[in-house]
Amino acid sequence: MFKLPQLPYAKTALAPFLNEEQMTFHYDKHHKAYIDNLNKFMETDASLKGKSLEEIVLSSSGGIFNNAAQIWNHTFYWFNMAPQGQGGQPTGPLMDAIKRDFGSLDELKAKFVDGGVKTFGSGWIWLCTDASGKLSLVSTSNAAVPFTNNGPTPLLVADVWEHAYYVDYRNLRLKYLETFWNHINWNFVSENFATKKVRDLTKSMV
Ligand code: MN
Repeated sequence: MFKLPQLPYAKTALAPFLNEEQMTFHYDKHHKAYIDNLNKFMETDASLKGKSLEEIVLSSSGGIFNNAAQIWNHTFYWFNMAPQGQGGQPTGPLMDAIKRDFGSLDELKAKFVDGGVKTFGSGWIWLCTDASGKLSLVSTSNAAVPFTNNGPTPLLVADVWEHAYYVDYRNLRLKYLETFWNHINWNFVSENFATKKVRDLTKSMV
């Protein structure tokens, strides 16, 4: 059985970027519902027993995949944010790769925000790396993750489902994404870039 992972900061710590009501709906209701749904599948599907969340994401489809992947995506999303001024800055090999593949941090921001705005309907905008350290932006729909089918490894993600921002931003996805950029936990992103491995999130929720 999976548990709702603890947030790495207080529910009010990201305000006014994300206020308490936005956080409460998104974390305590949306994210928790995915956990409850997957646990119901765990009770009736013996093939899920003993698998990590990542293993379930990589081996499932339909409702099981949708709930497992949404748990993975949301956990990664909470962990890749930090209160403004507390997430550090990209440096070293990560910053070198950003300059090589995007020109500058400002150009990465512009392309990431634009990719999120242009993600049609519900989905996610990701910064990813391949095994060689080449960076790319990936837009996924609904629950999809980049790393299925030997796809690239996630470094950073923003949730662009309307439920992620509608309480605080209504329809202003652009403003939400531009403000998101000031709340990135670059230390978390740098760790992901250093390992170039899909983050083990299971340990935070069992
Ligand atoms: Mn969400």
